[in-house]
Amino acid sequence: MSTSRSEPAPPVAALYFDGLSARAHAVTLTLDGATLHLNGADVSRSDALERVRLSEPMGQAARLISYADGAHAEVRDHAALARLLQDSGHRDHAFVRWAFDPRMVFAMFAGLLLAGWFAWQVGLPWAARMAAPRVPDEVVSAMSTQALGWLDNRVLTASTLSVQRRQTLRSAFDALAAGEGSAPRHSLQFRHGGRMRANAFALPDGTIIVTDELVDLAGDDDEVLAVLMHELGHVRARHGVRMLLQGSATALFMAWYLGDVSSLLATAPTALIQSGYSRSMESEADDFAARALVAQGRSPELLVSMLEKLARAHGESGDDGEGYLDWLSSHPDTGERIARLRAREFAVH
Ligand SMILES: [Zn+2]
Repeated sequence: MSTSRSEPAPPVAALYFDGLSARAHAVTLTLDGATLHLNGADVSRSDALERVRLSEPMGQAARLISYADGAHAEVRDHAALARLLQDSGHRDHAFVRWAFDPRMVFAMFAGLLLAGWFAWQVGLPWAARMAAPRVPDEVVSAMSTQALGWLDNRVLTASTLSVQRRQTLRSAFDALAAGEGSAPRHSLQFRHGGRMRANAFALPDGTIIVTDELVDLAGDDDEVLAVLMHELGHVRARHGVRMLLQGSATALFMAWYLGDVSSLLATAPTALIQSGYSRSMESEADDFAARALVAQGRSPELLVSMLEKLARAHGESGDDGEGYLDWLSSHPDTGERIARLRAREFAVH
């Protein structure tokens, strides 16, 4: 295995590209002191080692020897090249030059950006999904209280529905939810929506808010219940916690790093309000509602009808740019969701 220092290393086979044409020349490389000789049938050159750059080995990829004039040689036999360079002391030198090659720096930077983008698009939702079931109930409920307080201070006002009307809806919802064996803990609250208009949304702790405007918009209580079941679907899958974790990634990091949950609480309201559910979360909640409705002998058309009414109500005034929670942020997908609800059969599970 070991090559004696006095014995010259065997020539190394390489492919040479002169940088002018795409043609590959089969050549051999030899080293004479600090001079690299390249010889082929119709090409030969000799260059001082310090004038060429050598790429770092990366798996099976060919190592590149780059010349200052734009030519380069590719070497596939890593072991032979290593033997050739063994005594030259070239290695470190080449690495330092490679690392400061602006193209390499650019490539590394682009790689970093790509990794960051990937972490954001794929890693963060994944981490949020994994972490959501592990967030302690006290934290979930503190974040929810915080978010509702924020909305109550700025947007929502007390409901003007009669106590009896609210009680009727609450009982009907409880009865429908109770039919779902796996229904999570929940509580229904009424508010006047104001800028949020006809809307309903779920806080991560299971508090479901419905606005007077939505109750008025619905043809009957069954349609309101269909929307509430959709919200219960979000609660059950802990979508709110996931959106919260995703929306406050920085705060989450601080919470983990400093053991300080207050930073997470501080960003909770805005993170909740600014982030819309993903398309797949909406489908999941729609499916939950449709299955629950079918199980109780009702039709998923109740949800379809509400989707249409809500899209119309929010579309007409055209000022839905505030992105407030569920039924405003998600309505561009309404057509798709309706088609999906109608195409699927929601068998009783
Ligand atoms: Zn939804």
